[in-house]
Amino acid sequence: MKVVCTVSVLFMCSWLVQAQSNVAPVEPKAPQSFDLTAIDKTADPCTDFYQYACGNWKKNNPIPPDQVKWGQFAQLRERNDWLLYKELEAAAAPNPKRTPLEQKYGDFYAACMNTELVNQKGAAPLQSTLDAINAFSNKKQLATVLATLEIRDGISGAFAFGVAQDQKDSQKQIAQAGQGGLGLPDRDYYLLDNPRMQKIRQDYIAHMSRMFQLAGDTQEKAAAEAQAVMAIETALAQGSMSRTDRRDPAKRYHIMTLADLEKLTPDFHWQSYLHGIDMGTFQTLNVSYPQFFTALNAQINTQSLETWKSYLRWRAIHDAARWLPDAFVEENFKFYDTELLGQEEIAPRWKRCTQATDEGLGEAVGQDWVKKYFSPEKKANMLTLVSALEAALHQDIEQLPWMSDDTKKKALEKLALIRNKIGYPEHWRDYSTLEVKRDDLLGNIARASIFEDRRNLKKLGKPVDETEWGMTPPTVNAYYSPPFNDINFPAGILQPPFYDYSKDAAVNFGGIGVVIGHEMTHGFDDQGSKYDGKGNVAEWQTAEDRKAFTERTDCEVKEYGGFEAVPGLKLNGQLTLGENTADNGGLRIAYTALMDTLAKDAPAPEIDGYTPAQRFFLAFGQVWCSNVREQAARNYVLTDPHSPGNWRVNGAVENFDQFGKAFGCKKGAPMYPENACRVW
Ligand SMILES: [Zn+2]
Repeated sequence: MKVVCTVSVLFMCSWLVQAQSNVAPVEPKAPQSFDLTAIDKTADPCTDFYQYACGNWKKNNPIPPDQVKWGQFAQLRERNDWLLYKELEAAAAPNPKRTPLEQKYGDFYAACMNTELVNQKGAAPLQSTLDAINAFSNKKQLATVLATLEIRDGISGAFAFGVAQDQKDSQKQIAQAGQGGLGLPDRDYYLLDNPRMQKIRQDYIAHMSRMFQLAGDTQEKAAAEAQAVMAIETALAQGSMSRTDRRDPAKRYHIMTLADLEKLTPDFHWQSYLHGIDMGTFQTLNVSYPQFFTALNAQINTQSLETWKSYLRWRAIHDAARWLPDAFVEENFKFYDTELLGQEEIAPRWKRCTQATDEGLGEAVGQDWVKKYFSPEKKANMLTLVSALEAALHQDIEQLPWMSDDTKKKALEKLALIRNKIGYPEHWRDYSTLEVKRDDLLGNIARASIFEDRRNLKKLGKPVDETEWGMTPPTVNAYYSPPFNDINFPAGILQPPFYDYSKDAAVNFGGIGVVIGHEMTHGFDDQGSKYDGKGNVAEWQTAEDRKAFTERTDCEVKEYGGFEAVPGLKLNGQLTLGENTADNGGLRIAYTALMDTLAKDAPAPEIDGYTPAQRFFLAFGQVWCSNVREQAARNYVLTDPHSPGNWRVNGAVENFDQFGKAFGCKKGAPMYPENACRVW
């Protein structure tokens, strides 16, 4: 039976959503590293290695209805969420023995789980925000209204504003203004002229209209408001820089005085905005893409006050939607998750609340989580692996056939300066000033967002904290930061299938070893190579070496640009270039590190019928075993700088001759081609 929730039956519909989403959690299976049952022995590894490594896994692991992409990454994330959920459930009980931290994250989670109260309150928690927008009576006040929404309600407005390192002087933290203000995932969703995007735009307008009605507007008013929002967002999208162009730091760097910025946007009162958000004083700032602010100013100038009020109402309703009564949650889910990504069912409430608590208070809940799940021994072992990878990259750079000795010296200097951050931060974020109320979900979400905003704005002019982390400890991911020149591995990823000390070295080098190598190589990809070891944008390659580098990266752009994400839709080789370069470099140096490690001992035996080299490649391939919904795959082509799992595996192994040798492939086979691409 299909039930349609309308405004009039808003609260009648509530129980339906709850009935689906409050399913009792079941402990998810822990993913395993090196899974023999995943292998499809009917496939030829030399023709399609991904199918060989993952074919049976793909067949036996359909995408759960509350996911859009299902793979080893997602399985580990489910597991971490579940472990975190257990902690949060325990901390949510109002027990007088709770520590102050447990009280804080326990109450945050409890407020989120209290759907009865959320539904009872209806849209009331949003009212003071909507009142502030209603009181807006002159376009000259736009800057003040945006500042109020940001600092009082935690709502991001029509652009991005914050503090970050000056990319030419990474020791300095400066103000930065950038593009933003869109409700669809990318500017291309507004600009591409194909039937799928046209339909998405139409459905987006219909979705906005329904949301406005849920917030209390008449059908007629809601429809007009949706059109108004679309007009402003389309103009902002037209003024935005593409994701591919944003990869180039030079294109994102335009230092200006405040007077210059005021000249660029004469209809926006920057002084009022900066005063409103309580920003410190500064002489210059970086305006990443001045054209965006020209487009914004034109909209301020030409659109009516009513149009702007509709736009701001949308920002407020959309930002809050996931934390309002079920009818809002459901409508938001249907458009953003089902239509755009193909998700069939909403994730149960406990998962959404666990993730929200991790997002809002990650270093509070994370510090208790690592005590249980990340031992000092794991950290020490991980540091040994990192050293082996550093030595291998050192060796790789020294032996590079295309690079001059001068540039090699500079590359090695940069490598030596990479800072390794493993598991969790040395100093934990202090949340003592963040107020959490057990009966105020939307308020908690807003206060957590304001807390982060304040923390960021206060960095202006202060020394850089090199110990800071950009991911929470339970996160299943890792990153390299060019201005910090550091690699960061949260405790969340340092588990099977990536990292498993009960397994042989080949499996760990193929898993977490490749991930470490991948992050290090980011320091030397199309984007990272434009920064020096101190994190400043500065050319350290000779002109000739840069030319040779670009010839090699162009080879990867062409190669990956020929791969299809779904039939008929090819990858963007330029957008994915950095990740592809990192995958290729990571695989090569992890393999070298493994061989150097194995050479110290007696020859390693075959295990399960596979040589150490074969186990290395299989462990690598299986990290990427995954199934993806078609809508999500189409979305990723436009928005995700990573290639899909199958191409991450096949693209990398076909560029590395040791793979063909390990599996005895014939030269010229698809995975052992005559001509391959190589950067690092
Ligand atoms: Zn990466």
